[in-house]
Parts: sequence; structure tokens; C-alpha cells
Amino acid sequence: MTTSSSSSPRARTVSAEAETVGRYAPSPSGDLHLGNLRTALFAWLFARSAGGVLKMRVEDLDRVREGAAESQLRDLAALGIDWEPEVLYQSTRTAAYEEALSQLQEKSLVYECFCTRREIQAASSAPHGAPGAYPGTCRNLTEEERAEKRTQRNPALRLKSEVATYTVLDRFAGEYTAEVDDFVLRRTDGVFAYNLAVVVDDHFQGVTQVVRGDDLLPSAPRQAYLANLLGWEAPRYVHVPLALNKDGARLAKRDGAVTLAQLLAAGLSREDVVRMISASIPLAPVKTNDDFHLPENAAEMLTVFSPENISLNPWTVLDPLMEGTCCIG
Ligand code: GLU
Repeated sequence: MTTSSSSSPRARTVSAEAETVGRYAPSPSGDLHLGNLRTALFAWLFARSAGGVLKMRVEDLDRVREGAAESQLRDLAALGIDWEPEVLYQSTRTAAYEEALSQLQEKSLVYECFCTRREIQAASSAPHGAPGAYPGTCRNLTEEERAEKRTQRNPALRLKSEVATYTVLDRFAGEYTAEVDDFVLRRTDGVFAYNLAVVVDDHFQGVTQVVRGDDLLPSAPRQAYLANLLGWEAPRYVHVPLALNKDGARLAKRDGAVTLAQLLAAGLSREDVVRMISASIPLAPVKTNDDFHLPENAAEMLTVFSPENISLNPWTVLDPLMEGTCCIG
């Protein structure tokens, strides 16, 4: 929920002069679709157009499909995206997450939560709760109550948030304020939560610029708050519009031929796919050997990319194969 920013604490953010280190952080749950590829290209373009570099991180704490990380990285490279040599895999980072958690525990900012999903839903749909926000049920349990509940369930660990809202600066959304509830740091099954892992890893990788889909904008205030609590500056945020299907819903793999492999199998080339994405941004044609064409690889995109000129509307992908035919030849 967005609220007035007048009284909301603001994130401490890396200075505008800091060298640009971007990142792309896919979850290896399957092949990347056109919307993911476009966001990855944006992350690369924003980093490179600012004279910076891109780092890569595989967010494999959850929903991993065998071979997906390798195939995603191959697809990104096929479009001409490059990144700093080492790819960070979140599955190797448990010790770093433990360390961040202990820092927060030392400051008494962590508590055990025994609520089931259903209990949280019931409580957060009460008239005054923000939808989806954790209402703090387990925040003030006594030690006896906790000991008793531990015999029934493994607890999740939640942040004892000391703010109601937090404000970040986003390149396109501007000053953006959202609620910061007592969000989960480590899940009941012991897996570290996305919000903790992302903050620890962005800091570890020296990331100063986060470019990602605007569905994650509501998470940015929580993440910036957590970074600040851990003594780190928040990155600069650039949330970019998503790709949608013909029904206006977020593009998904079930929306037909939308992955690079599917589009190649249907007879398109990877240059066709990049031209399709270039048209959606929209990028101007590039001139090579007396010929004008829409950019057909990341390097060509960079020659005509300007952050001010991108469309801030979602990209509606009607039928990638039909769209593709416009660009063949
Ligand atoms: N791994 C997330 C995803 O693939 C992105 C997280 C982020 O960019 O912060 O949706």
C-alpha cells in the first residue's frame, strides 16, 4: 500500500556519483520468457549506458528446475548481454545469510512466528489490516508461549520492524512509500526468505543500481529498510514496466511461444527476438553499412538507448509469432 511520504523515514541510498554496478537476478524455475529477457536487457542497458557493469546472480533458494540456470544464462548471452565473470548462486550463501540474521538478532530485531498462512490471512483481512501485511500476532509472545508453540511447529523468523512505512527513490516512480510490516527473514522450512537474501547479496556484490520489473516496486521499501538496518546504503532503484499477455495479465510461459527456445523453434532468429524487444522499448533504428534496422543485439541497443526515452507503459505481447513476422528479413 502506498501512503503519504511526508512523515515516512527515507532510505539512505548510495550517492548519485557512485560507480554503477547493476545486476540481473533470475530465479531458475524454467526458461526466461520475453518479459524476463527484456528486463535483463534493461538491466544491462541501464548499467552500461552509465559506464558501469552488470553482475549476475542465480536466485536458487526456491523453485529450482534442473538445468534452468544454465539455459537462462545461455539465452542472456545469446542476446549479447555480458556480465562480470563470477555468477553468484544463492544456494552457496547460507553462511552470509546466517551472519546477517545474527546481526539483527543481536539488536533484538528478530522474533519467532508460529502463525499458519491461514491464520495470517484471516488476521490481515480484518478491517484495519493492510492486505497481506503481517499483523504482528507473535511479536509479543512470552517465553513460555514460545516454548509451548515450538513443540507444535517450527517457527519462521520475522523482522521486528520499527517503522510503519519507508520511502525509496525510484527513477520512474519517484519518491515511493510503502508499508514495512514484520516480514519473514527465514521461513518455517529453514530457507532464508527472498527479502533477506536479496539485500545481503546486493550488498555483497557491490550493487548500486537495481533494475527489475515493477511488480517488485512494493518490496523495495522493505529491502531498503533492511539494508539500512544492516548498516548498508540501499541501491538506486529503477523499476521497469512488465510484459503483459493479451488479457492484461503478467506474461507467463503458458502464453504460447514466449521463450527464446520456442521462438527459435518457430523459425525466428535471435536477431528477430531482439528487434521485437527493441521495438517495444521503443528504440530507434541503428545505421550499419547504409542499412537502417532496429537493434538486433545488446550492443546495438546500447548505441541508441537512452533511459529518458523508454516507454513507461507495460508491453502487451499479443502474439509473439505474429509480432515476429514484422521483423524478419
Ligand atoms: N529473482 C527474482 C525474479 O526472478 C528477481 C528478484 C530481484 O530482482 O530483486 O523474479
